[in-house]
Amino acid sequence: MPVAFEGGCFCGEIRYRAKSVFDSGYCHCSMCRRFTGCPALTWFSVPEHDFSLVSGVPKAFQSSATFTRYFCSTCGTHVFGRDSRTASPKVGFRLVSIGIGTLDDPETDRVKSVTVRVTPERKWIARLGPFAAWAWTILAAGGGAMLLIDKGPWPLTNGWFALLSGAAACPLTAWCAKRWFGIRLSGRAQFVAAVVIWLAGQIARRIGL
Ligand SMILES: [Zn+2]
Ligand SMILES: [Zn+2]
Repeated sequence: MPVAFEGGCFCGEIRYRAKSVFDSGYCHCSMCRRFTGCPALTWFSVPEHDFSLVSGVPKAFQSSATFTRYFCSTCGTHVFGRDSRTASPKVGFRLVSIGIGTLDDPETDRVKSVTVRVTPERKWIARLGPFAAWAWTILAAGGGAMLLIDKGPWPLTNGWFALLSGAAACPLTAWCAKRWFGIRLSGRAQFVAAVVIWLAGQIARRIGL
């Protein structure tokens, strides 16, 4: 996925361009806290060969034996940091970590996905997730409801489990939980709940409940 992110410091003296994203995240370490004056630093990293300074000469500050931070000497913005070694041992090349807050357009979808740490693969899953959830809702809840209509609500039929499993996976359930109870249900929690209920139904059927 070719990307080109541009950004710079508050006063505009320092400008940079990044052509790819290697990783992203938050750092709560004491050095990042001190340097930014904030609870955490939100960053994305770029292989050095995909990073270029467009203008300005940032001031360097070596914050540890292996890391140097660069900031604007006019406005003080902490723009990026770089491994002081020639290559980061873990990845084999040098990485530049850029403060996400210095991007010109941090609201674009591409950067939002950086902010929440979604790699392209995960993004694909994230897009597929709601489809799968609705498919299961329709399949399980629909099938369950039909079983209940067909066989009646009692004794405890597999229809109830299927219905509940479908409801657990349903994106609307998450929406209602957040809206009415202030509970945030993650897609993963919903998936697990749906699977557990479905399995419970299978066990109930096996032991002839
Ligand atoms: Zn500046
Ligand atoms: Zn840190």
